[in-house]
Amino acid sequence: MAVQRTFSIIKPDATERNLTGAINAVIEKAGLRIIGQRRIQMTRAQAERFYAVHSARPFFGELVDFMISGPVVVQVLEAEDAITKYREVMGATNPADAAEGTIRKLFAKSIGENSVHGSDSAENAALEIAQFFSEADLTS
Ligand code: GDP
Repeated sequence: MAVQRTFSIIKPDATERNLTGAINAVIEKAGLRIIGQRRIQMTRAQAERFYAVHSARPFFGELVDFMISGPVVVQVLEAEDAITKYREVMGATNPADAAEGTIRKLFAKSIGENSVHGSDSAENAALEIAQFFSEADLTS
């Protein structure tokens, strides 16, 4: 498996509790390199575009409201097999189902306020990275 990039968001429930550094420590300990990172306040339009794939889901409105409820940290992570590796490090969507040691088991508050996002495919990783970063922002 070649070196790959994935897109990550540290969500508002985590930035609100000053957990950016603690989450980055778990990310880096797992061997993922943070090659780009920015703290931003997402606009509603940005959040709706980012989660457009979920627009028909019953929780879409709640999800968008949550993602703009405070600052987020958008990140690009690089590693061998980064997409699968970060999904493992994040843990299951619902923290009640997440494995010990995962970010969501350690920090998430609920299935909605679950501290982190990570891309689920190479195609989505490329689209998500391009929504928030230009190549010039990223340095391995
Ligand atoms: P992920 O890939 O593990 O982040 O999970 P999904 O792609 O299924 O869902 C995207 C995001 O929507 C999750 O990370 C949650 O923040 C949110 N979400 C998923 N299911 C629910 C739900 O049942 N209720 C609420 N409020 N939010 C949800």
